[in-house]
Amino acid sequence: MAAWCEHCDRPVEGEVCEVCGNPVTEPAREPIPLRWRFFIVVTIIYLAYRLYQLVSWLGHH
Ligand SMILES: [Zn+2]
Repeated sequence: MAAWCEHCDRPVEGEVCEVCGNPVTEPAREPIPLRWRFFIVVTIIYLAYRLYQLVSWLGHH
C-alpha cells in the first residue's frame, strides 16, 4: 500500500518521500466507528420502513 506525503500531496512508494525527503507514515486504516455503524443501521431501517410505507400506500390505491 502506498503511503502519502502530506508535504508534496502525492503518493510515495517506501518510507521516505523521494521529492522532499520527509519520512511518510503508512495511512492508518481505522475501522468504522461504532456510532457510524449505528447510524448506518438506523438509516437502513428507516429507509426500509419508508419503502414499506410507500409500497403499502401504493397497494391501497
Ligand atoms: Zn514529499
